[in-house]
Amino acid sequence: MSPVYLDNNATTRTDPAVVEAMLPFFSEHFGNASSTHVFGEKVGEAVKAARKQLQALLGAAFDHEIIFTSGGTESDNAALVSALETQADLDAGRDEIITTKVEHQAILAVVAHLEKTRGIKVHQIGVDRQGRLDVDAYAAALGPRTAIASVMWANNETGTLFPVNELARMAHAAGALFHTDAVQAVGKVPLDLKSMEIDMLSLSGHKLHGPKGIGALYVKKGVKFKPLIRGGHQERGRRGGTENVPAIVGLGAAATLALQHLEDEGSRVKALRDRLEQGVLQQVPHTMRNGDETNRLPNTANIAFEYLDGEAVLMHLNRAGVATSTGSACTSGSTEPSHVLRAMDLPATALHGAIRFSLSRENTGADVDRVLEVLPDIVTKLRDMSPAWKNRQGEPAAPHA
Ligand SMILES: *Cc1c(COP(=O)(O)O)cnc(C)c1O
Repeated sequence: MSPVYLDNNATTRTDPAVVEAMLPFFSEHFGNASSTHVFGEKVGEAVKAARKQLQALLGAAFDHEIIFTSGGTESDNAALVSALETQADLDAGRDEIITTKVEHQAILAVVAHLEKTRGIKVHQIGVDRQGRLDVDAYAAALGPRTAIASVMWANNETGTLFPVNELARMAHAAGALFHTDAVQAVGKVPLDLKSMEIDMLSLSGHKLHGPKGIGALYVKKGVKFKPLIRGGHQERGRRGGTENVPAIVGLGAAATLALQHLEDEGSRVKALRDRLEQGVLQQVPHTMRNGDETNRLPNTANIAFEYLDGEAVLMHLNRAGVATSTGSACTSGSTEPSHVLRAMDLPATALHGAIRFSLSRENTGADVDRVLEVLPDIVTKLRDMSPAWKNRQGEPAAPHA
């Protein structure tokens, strides 16, 4: 039996149609997109077409609002660093960043570095027990010193969605820019950036069945931008370096597929996710759902198994042919509980026992059946060996979500 892949928030399989679209751009159409001869023209057109495909998925007003980058991490870095520079040009007093406690490392590591090396103030807004942003604290942090607010569209660990357009409006009212890390949202929720106030948005190819090492930063027309990577005049001087043409073409193809599948596959995936989640919560005692039940991505279920170590559950699931995650792939291997679940103030009995199941359009009902077949026994066996489970008497039972 081939293993079941339920770790799509870490990465997705590149769609075979995407690979097929990419292949001619290695040895056949190999020209440099900047060259003015016939070899380059063909390639320049392909890059332009991919930009249009991405524009359609984002609902952006103009294709030139899209800058191709090496991925979500670069886009996040570029957005924050640019905002600090452009805002300082307008008003030297605007030097603060507002973000959240539950962002991806691609944001958290950058703001920590900026704080340390430039001494700028970073406000990290918290979330409630359901993972919802403390909007009052966000409003209180905004002010005449805010350069940019950066809040993710969807959380990678719990799938919880944030009210980004409302947050962007609030940022603008305070004279600040607004950026969103939408790496987990793009391809999973409908987007219409032309009708929204978001200034900058990050996305990544490999989270939507495109290739790894390619992404984009959307910069709304009229928003000033300074490049992170300086070099040639590629991307209208906003990102130097010869374009990764095969990957750009692949990202364009992935965007078109994502747009085609958004509605039908989104609801099918949601039904699978709900059946998986309901099944686990009903069949396994002392479990809880982490994240906002209604306001979340259709593909993600984060479930805590009380009194257990998520790494042990993950290992046994892996042996039984089910690939999952304990949260963000970047921090697995360490025994530290996830910063997201910590920010949500999960009870101590559940903090170490969370598993993230993340589906994609490639999953089937049989995949869900497999999880429901193997998981209850795994949990029972692990709990039989767990001193924490045996000593739990007197602990109040967790609400059976
Ligand atoms: C995966 C991910 C990133 C990083 O994207 P890369 O293309 O791998 O650099 C950033 N933010 C979120 C929310 C992610 O899930």
